[in-house]
Amino acid sequence: MLQWSLKKSKKYDTASGYNIAYLFFHPPLEHCPDNMKQKHIWQHLGKLKVTPSVKMFLWKCLHGRIPVLELIHRRFPSTSPLCPYCHTQSESITHCLITCNKAQDIWSRSQIYLHLPHPTGDQFFEWWQELKTKLEWQHDGERLMGLVASICWNIWKARNLWVFEHTNQMPEETLQMSVTLAQQFTSLA
Ligand SMILES: [Zn+2]
Repeated sequence: MLQWSLKKSKKYDTASGYNIAYLFFHPPLEHCPDNMKQKHIWQHLGKLKVTPSVKMFLWKCLHGRIPVLELIHRRFPSTSPLCPYCHTQSESITHCLITCNKAQDIWSRSQIYLHLPHPTGDQFFEWWQELKTKLEWQHDGERLMGLVASICWNIWKARNLWVFEHTNQMPEETLQMSVTLAQQFTSLA
């Protein structure tokens, strides 16, 4: 019988599983660019009230490891970097999740919209950091950060549905799925 040696109970649980995955993927701090050496960002992400998959997704976004077309193009120059929705700009992580019209259609319907910083560059990390600074003093800031993370995750899933299955998910549906996901987790916590 398999035993999970990282818990006294020898039983697997998703929290310790997540921690291992996190340590496995997380490069040593000294190998990170300077702006990513801020432990509070990672500690905050670890405590975020979202499901482990959303947390892992956010971690990948913050490290620039989501396979958007701009990143694929850098490795394979013969591929197009253009956004599969608007075809006007490179599909960076920030474009895909925040600035593309398709993403804005979703954000503009959410209660978080007015709190969102406008990305100054193309670094998702900086945008997330600014959002965290803005929201951390609000009484429901943690809940709103969880909602933002859930929306990012569902925008990415809707994008993949469009790219790989040619299925167009309506913005209202993407938002509703995100709200439900965020609420489910906070009501369980
Ligand atoms: Zn676009």
